Amino acid sequence: MANYIFVTGGVTSSLGKGIISASLGKLLQARGYSITIQKLDPYINVDPGTLNPYEHGECYVTGDGAETDLDLGHYERFIGHSTSQANNVTTGAIYRSVIEKERRGDYLGETVQVIPHITDEIKQRIKTLGQNHAYDYIITEIGGTVGDIESLPYIEAVRQLRWEMSQNSIVVHLTLVPYLGAAAELKTKPTQHSVKTLQESGVQPDVIVCRSEYSLNEALRNKIALFCNVEVSSVIESIDASSIYDVPLLMQKEHLDRVVLKKLGMPYEDEPDLEHWKDFLYRLKNPRRKVIIGLVGKYVELKDAYKSITEAFVHAGAENECKVHLRLLKAQDMETEEGVERLKGLDGLCVAPGFGERGFEGKINAIKYARESETPFFGICFGMQTAVVEFARNVLGYNDAHSTEVEPKTINPVIDIMETQKNVTDKGGTMRLGAYPCHIEKNTLTHKIYGQPDISERHRHRYEFNNAYREEFTTHGMKMSGIFPGQDLVEIIELENHPWFVGVQFHPEYRSTADKAHPLFVAFVKAALDNKK
Ligand code: GLN
Repeated sequence: MANYIFVTGGVTSSLGKGIISASLGKLLQARGYSITIQKLDPYINVDPGTLNPYEHGECYVTGDGAETDLDLGHYERFIGHSTSQANNVTTGAIYRSVIEKERRGDYLGETVQVIPHITDEIKQRIKTLGQNHAYDYIITEIGGTVGDIESLPYIEAVRQLRWEMSQNSIVVHLTLVPYLGAAAELKTKPTQHSVKTLQESGVQPDVIVCRSEYSLNEALRNKIALFCNVEVSSVIESIDASSIYDVPLLMQKEHLDRVVLKKLGMPYEDEPDLEHWKDFLYRLKNPRRKVIIGLVGKYVELKDAYKSITEAFVHAGAENECKVHLRLLKAQDMETEEGVERLKGLDGLCVAPGFGERGFEGKINAIKYARESETPFFGICFGMQTAVVEFARNVLGYNDAHSTEVEPKTINPVIDIMETQKNVTDKGGTMRLGAYPCHIEKNTLTHKIYGQPDISERHRHRYEFNNAYREEFTTHGMKMSGIFPGQDLVEIIELENHPWFVGVQFHPEYRSTADKAHPLFVAFVKAALDNKK
């Protein structure tokens, strides 16, 4: 039977429950167990696909096409294998399913209530992952903070599951132990209160992970243990780390994995094999060179808006033994000449995915600069589409060329809505989503980079390259090097007379992990390094 580990959070949000869950997952995986990590989000949106990045940071996309919380990105980057639709569930999705059942008459006239119907649906979404012996451990992270009104049904579901499966499940509670400068002390009271709130809902945590700026001494650990009803060895310190990738090792040092295994009645004497991980960390922390890469986007002031891209650069930097300095550039600022001036001195330029008009012309200017100055360029999704428009305008001479997403009336729609998207009216979950195969032409840069002709990458878009222009682009030096064979969609473009100019319709960043940096990012960083020479 699978073991279930529930991760709850108290005191404040943003304590890093996702990183703790991913780190625990990594430690168990490094002991040879199969694990998966799931996130339950208490908001009413059916998925985060319709949320803008200001609300919720990046939207992460799984191979099977789920638009999910960015924590799933952390899970995959740490664990190295795919999550799925079942790994992210929101209150909206839970209610939608219960209401659909009610409309179908499945409840046979019963009054449909939060308990048991909503909680049953939550429990079922948790247990689904444990079916068919697919995993030894299922880590379920409960979004939000204990005590939130909207988290209550989730905590109740955890209480019931704990009661149903007793020794096969545990609760890890993450809290904050703040440092009060005036008193020059770490304070445990917020932790005590948040554990009390959890206990009021009938849930006793088994392990308490204390996020803190300073180390917890023995007296503090004893105090937390006493007030929160846990063993001292189950009070784990999670000190602020310089890199999220340090956290698995910090948790190992605190014996989080051992404590969890012991509580679940599993053997815990062996140590996890983290050689590969340590290797990655060593390269990450001992760079021999440095490159400066500009990341142009609409939301660059927002730390989490391009999470998977910034992390993919961390992985690719480590792989190249170099420190990638990302210079975040607001697309709108590139609309002036002074803005474009700021691109000088960059070793490479990446234009991020995006939607809509704001900043589009700035991206065009930035790409023109990269193309003409032979600066390595990497365009992702909207970044690739903008590169196509730039080429059409400035090389083919179609001054009015555009994407119909931005200018529906353009006479030269070099990027146009996909046939399959034309009649779509609902915005949620209806883009071209998830992994699709792509065939790469021989004798192209991308073929060399991937080292194989057939790849699979994840997508999230409604627009595509307009094939009516294909021949003209090809004759003028923009190659269509990757094609989705099923529908003849252009997935990769590259420039012939340029050292490194690649645009991809897909999102390679979703597949980059700490253990396996994505080849396109690795090659782009390498090109930026060469450009430096
Ligand atoms: N807005 C573009 C489209 O829908 C690109 C989307 C993206 O960059 N993810 O096709």
